[in-house]
Amino acid sequence: MPDLKKKIAEPGIIVMDGATGTQLQKLGLPPGMGPELWNLDNPEAVKTHYRAYVEAGADAILTNSFGGTRARLEFENAGDKVHEINVAAAKLAREVAGDSVLVLGSMGPTGQLMEPMGLLTYEAAVEMFAEQAAALAEGGVDGIHIETMSDLQEVRAAIEGAHKATNLPVTVTMSFDTHGRTMMGVKPEDAVKELWQLDVLAVGVNCGRTLEENLTAVTAMRAAAPEATLIAKPNAGLPHVDGLGDAVYDVTPEIMADYALKFREQGVKMFGGCCGSNPEHILAVKNVLK
Ligand SMILES: [Zn+2]
Repeated sequence: MPDLKKKIAEPGIIVMDGATGTQLQKLGLPPGMGPELWNLDNPEAVKTHYRAYVEAGADAILTNSFGGTRARLEFENAGDKVHEINVAAAKLAREVAGDSVLVLGSMGPTGQLMEPMGLLTYEAAVEMFAEQAAALAEGGVDGIHIETMSDLQEVRAAIEGAHKATNLPVTVTMSFDTHGRTMMGVKPEDAVKELWQLDVLAVGVNCGRTLEENLTAVTAMRAAAPEATLIAKPNAGLPHVDGLGDAVYDVTPEIMADYALKFREQGVKMFGGCCGSNPEHILAVKNVLK
């Protein structure tokens, strides 16, 4: 199996995949339906999605398990399928990735507010993330990738849950989409200082808004923690709605590739795309970073 720790220590950048949700919608996933349900209901489509990124040259793909915590799956009336959905997400990815491409188990936010603002206790959050991480590990992932986070408490719970359930390396990114901060008000420099101490292999940014804003966040992280291993997985810009009511992202593969070089100047070791990016973006990034 590929080894994320070894690979990250080598020269060069690990090229990650692009968007999952928007890509599965192109393959027919009904809008509003949780993409994770397709791991059981339409495994061939999920494999087609994974394969497109492997063929584009991604060194690492994320499992289709972003909303795979118990809290999120309960919204889909699938709270009793946490284990099988996450095992399937990982197994399908492993089948496609073989033993040369890394498979990272994606874990996104629970969608619940934590105490004291909400009802979710720290301990309950740790348990939910541990449950998901254990299933992803059982399905054969090479690492756990925590992403699109905005609450530092929830990230801590996710990291603790991943370490509790597995011995796999953990990487983590937050989304700085609200005037340079996360939705919960966390600044990039504070996130990196806090998270880099928590036994993670790499830390960084994903989703957010524009490429430029993501670059600003990464630059702030680099300045605050020169020793940190950084990740960037930005959106292909901000979507606007076209005449047919579809969301359109304006960032071309060429623009994404130009920005990959700017992120490299900040010493980013893992780079991919988030919402609106597709295999063409990843192919262009792979070529420019060669
Ligand atoms: Zn995104």
